[in-house]
Amino acid sequence: MANTKIDNRTWWDTLHKNGPFDLKLFLTTKMEKSSSGLSDFERYKDAAIEIQRLIQLALDSNERFRAIGSKWSMSSIAHCKDRMHYNAFLNLKFPIFEGEIHPASSYEHNNLFLFQSGNRIKDISRFLERRGKSLKTTGASNGQTIAGCISTGVHGSTIDSGSVQDYVVGLNMITGPNPEDNIYLERESRPALTDTYAKNFATVIIRDDDMFNAVLVGLGSMGFIHGVVVESENLFLLRRYVKKINKKEALQLANTLDFSTYDPKIPDGNFKGVRPFHYKVFINPYNTNETKYGAEFIYKIKYYDNYKLDFGEPIPFQKEFVYLDLIYLFIKIAEKFSKSIPTIINLLKSSILPKEEKTTVGKLSEIFWDAGYQGKAFACSFGVDHTNASKALELMAKVTRENPVPGIFAMRFVKSSEATLAFSKFPFTCMVEIDGIQWKDNDNLISLTDYSTKLIEVLKNNNIPFTIHWGKNANWKFPGLINHMYGKNVKKWKKIRAKLLSIPMQEVFSNSFLDSTKLSEPLAIDEDLIV
Ligand SMILES: Cc1cc2nc3c(=O)[nH]c(=O)nc-3n(C[C@H](O)[C@H](O)[C@H](O)COP(=O)(O)OP(=O)(O)OC[C@H]3O[C@@H](n4cnc5c(N)ncnc54)[C@H](O)[C@@H]3O)c2cc1C
Repeated sequence: MANTKIDNRTWWDTLHKNGPFDLKLFLTTKMEKSSSGLSDFERYKDAAIEIQRLIQLALDSNERFRAIGSKWSMSSIAHCKDRMHYNAFLNLKFPIFEGEIHPASSYEHNNLFLFQSGNRIKDISRFLERRGKSLKTTGASNGQTIAGCISTGVHGSTIDSGSVQDYVVGLNMITGPNPEDNIYLERESRPALTDTYAKNFATVIIRDDDMFNAVLVGLGSMGFIHGVVVESENLFLLRRYVKKINKKEALQLANTLDFSTYDPKIPDGNFKGVRPFHYKVFINPYNTNETKYGAEFIYKIKYYDNYKLDFGEPIPFQKEFVYLDLIYLFIKIAEKFSKSIPTIINLLKSSILPKEEKTTVGKLSEIFWDAGYQGKAFACSFGVDHTNASKALELMAKVTRENPVPGIFAMRFVKSSEATLAFSKFPFTCMVEIDGIQWKDNDNLISLTDYSTKLIEVLKNNNIPFTIHWGKNANWKFPGLINHMYGKNVKKWKKIRAKLLSIPMQEVFSNSFLDSTKLSEPLAIDEDLIV
């Protein structure tokens, strides 16, 4: 039988120490051993029963319960003061066979896999690669869990692929302690699995597009995600090149995403007019004299086995690079300076972004690899329509020069998501992000909350519609913030939550993040009728 270690705790923290946050109980469930003689499906079902037992315990104690993944979110979205469940040991993986595909489905069975929620992106990639498959996109690094990624809407800069939740085609949700609370959910318009197969692990099957889209980016508050059905694709290679390009050129590409006449002039490769798989721009907001930005171009090419003979091992190259995730780049620049944060900011005014011109070719998992820095960090990330990219960047960079903080900017680009509360809600969303290291009160800088308030205000005052990454730092208590960002989709999301979760379960699956964003507040009866 699956069993859970229950530790009394007084606090927990995120990977980048954005807390500490108060806590009573830390729960870690381990599944029955594979040597027990149980099949993987029996072990999976047994784990579901254990999760339901833990939910019942939380309910009986009038306490809240929240699943956490790798604790990589920097906002308090993963925090719950009562009971937090660590999912890392829930990591079974199931291929889907031909007879298990729904008759009305257009998915190919060999692209679909069911992953238990605690699987990390890197483990999934390894498993898929052994089968000649790949995820379609990931974030810049690969330590998050699949359930953690979809719950906040993790993105890379894969212009035409969307975010992690956008290749999820089915969800196994546990919404309470009763047998009928173990649900398999998929879209009615795009069914994936047969009822017979889903009945292997779920009691109730729901096919409903609106419900699926609302639950996809569920903020940890739509129940416990036990399994995620993912659509993969055939292995491909990525050819990566970072170079400094003219500011004006970089911003024009950002505002238009029109690469039809652009020539990145990559050595030994003709990519003139080719739309990249991934485009990212790195910006030092403090040096306004710098005429060039760092631009990362990544092109998708056909997979072949011997690519390492032609291009070398990608991982050692990655270790030398500075343009990996944004925090890492900041750390690499800051390392050259004194340790005093005000001094670092001052020196950034004349510092130029480093040069890096080397081609790397690798699989998705080799190009978007481990996180290079694990100390104290912050990250603020705003989504705007890509046509507003340069305008938003200019305004946010000006706020930053007026209220300096130890960080630098990047812009990434993501196709729109169908998820009701996805921050990638524009046809193409430009994520304007500032990442860096945390500072102390005695550094005499603006507080992070006040800084992010200023970023919200400058976009609002300039009528630039925006969203904020759910897993990143912001003044989440800013009045009316969520309604401003998502409008009528807030009611849609709440209505689905009220349909899926009983009133006591809505309370169990709430947390202070949901309270402060007012997403845990039920809809008024009249609002409920008109949604
Ligand atoms: C080094 C680093 C790099 C990053 N790079 C990127 C990037 O490139 N792109 C990007 O978009 N973001 C990025 N982020 C942000 C981060 O990827 C997201 O916040 C992501 O959600 C973290 O996943 P996790 O597994 O750590 O989940 P957690 O942070 O632990 O949890 C996130 C949410 O998921 C919920 N959750 C987790 N498991 C379950 C479950 N089984 N059932 C229900 N709810 C669940 C939690 O309750 C919480 O609400 C980065 C963060 C770091 C620290």
